[in-house]
Amino acid sequence: MYSNGERTSLMSMPKIIKVPRRTLLVLCGPAGSGKSTFAAQRFTATNIVSSDLCRAMICDDENNQQVNRDTFELFYFIIQKRLFLGRFTVADSTALQSDARRKLRDLSRRFGYLGCLLIFNIPPEVCLERNKARHRLVEEQVIAHHAGLLERTLLDAPYEGWEQVHVLGEQDMDTRVEIEL
Ligand code: GDP
Ligand code: MG
Repeated sequence: MYSNGERTSLMSMPKIIKVPRRTLLVLCGPAGSGKSTFAAQRFTATNIVSSDLCRAMICDDENNQQVNRDTFELFYFIIQKRLFLGRFTVADSTALQSDARRKLRDLSRRFGYLGCLLIFNIPPEVCLERNKARHRLVEEQVIAHHAGLLERTLLDAPYEGWEQVHVLGEQDMDTRVEIEL
C-alpha cells in the first residue's frame, strides 16, 4: 500500500522518506514532472543514472527516440554495475510502463536492494507548462499519453512488490530523502 512518508501534524512540514544505503530509488512520472530536478537537488550526480543522459551519451541527442533500445541497455547496465558494488542508486527515467518498472524491480531484488518507487503525480497541464519553459521538444500528445500511463501506474504500483511506494504531488517537491547508515 502507499506510504506517505512521515508527516508531522503541521501539513507544511516536508515529507521524509527514509531508506537504507542499498536502495534503488526509482523515479516515475511524465516528462516535465520534475524528476531530474528533484534528483539533482538531493543527490550526488554520480548516484543518478538517467535514461536521457544515457541516450545523449550514445547519440548526442537527449530526445532521439530512435535509439531507445541501446539507451536502455546502457541504462540497465550501469544500474546493475552500481548495485553489484553496493552503491545507492537513483534510476531517472519515466518508468511509466509496467515492463520498465518490472525490470528495475527485478534488478533491485537480484542484488538484495530495497526497491523504492517515487511516483511524480503532477497534472499534465503543469508538465506541459514546465516543458515549454525548458524549450524541450516533448510534444503535447506525449504528455497526454504519459498522463494516461500515470493513472494506470497509480493503480498498479501497490501490487508490484515494491518495499516502498511514495506518491508525490506538486506540494511535495520539498520532500526529504534520508539515507540511513
Ligand atoms: P523531468 O522530465 O520529470 O525530469 O522534469 P525536469 O526535472 O527536467 O523538470 C522539467 C522543468 O520543470 C524544468 O524546467 C524544471 O526547472 C521545472 N521544474 C522542476 N521541478 C519544479 C518545481 O517543483 N516547480 C517548478 N515551478 N518548476 C519545476
Ligand atoms: Mg528528466
